[in-house]
Amino acid sequence: MIGHHLLGKKRIDVSANLKGKKRLFFLGTNHPFYGKKRPEHSKAMSSRGNPMYGRTKDIDPERGKKITRTAIERGSYRGDKNGMFGRQHRPCSIEKMRLQRIGKHPSPEALEKNKATYRTLEAKDGARKRMIEMLKRGIFSIKPNGPEKELIGYLRATQPHEWKYTGDGSFWVGGLNPDFVNEKTKQMIEHFGCYWHGCPSCFPNHKVKEMGTTEYRVAKYAECGWDCLVVWEHDIRNGNYKELFGRFLTTGQAGMLSREVPMPTN
Ligand SMILES: [Zn+2]
Repeated sequence: MIGHHLLGKKRIDVSANLKGKKRLFFLGTNHPFYGKKRPEHSKAMSSRGNPMYGRTKDIDPERGKKITRTAIERGSYRGDKNGMFGRQHRPCSIEKMRLQRIGKHPSPEALEKNKATYRTLEAKDGARKRMIEMLKRGIFSIKPNGPEKELIGYLRATQPHEWKYTGDGSFWVGGLNPDFVNEKTKQMIEHFGCYWHGCPSCFPNHKVKEMGTTEYRVAKYAECGWDCLVVWEHDIRNGNYKELFGRFLTTGQAGMLSREVPMPTN
């Protein structure tokens, strides 16, 4: 595919690299040189052996800039800019990709090792922190899910240009990553999955960690000066979120706390 370089085993988005993002996936076995050694003729090219040694002044200063400029103008090949937009791979390509993936799965021993590493709580917490760190640095991205897409559409229609989807890790307050923010009014919206966040009407018996509870998150945001509306998954399913959002705009979070939890209709 154009715009992507096949380096090692992982596909790297060139435009992402230009923005200073790290090539995380070159670590360990993903590194193209993993388990290999530089051949002698390659070593001989180092330092004084390099024909460019001491010739920095000879480099055309415009050259690198031109490459960068072209990449910036072109942008990333996402959405309709992607050559595959709206098209499907041929069955033979699909088979090729399937074969490429084979062997990339960790071996049973590696799996066991990973499991042993993550068995402890500290390790799990470390993994979570690393994940958050990677999200913050834009090393990988999260795309909105179905209900979030519906919310995005609704917010765009009712208050154009006011709300930003930030659930992709692009915005953080008090160590938390809200789903939508309106920076002008310091309002935010959190979309909570009923199971994962222990919705009181759908999963009253599902206990969740403090950090995942509505109370903790709303209070944390309030501490930092933000008003947060919680929209449950079932609010989106039964369409109640529109009314909730309207009420939130007039009363703010304070007016929402006293609201009756609407029962899901399906
Ligand atoms: Zn629910």
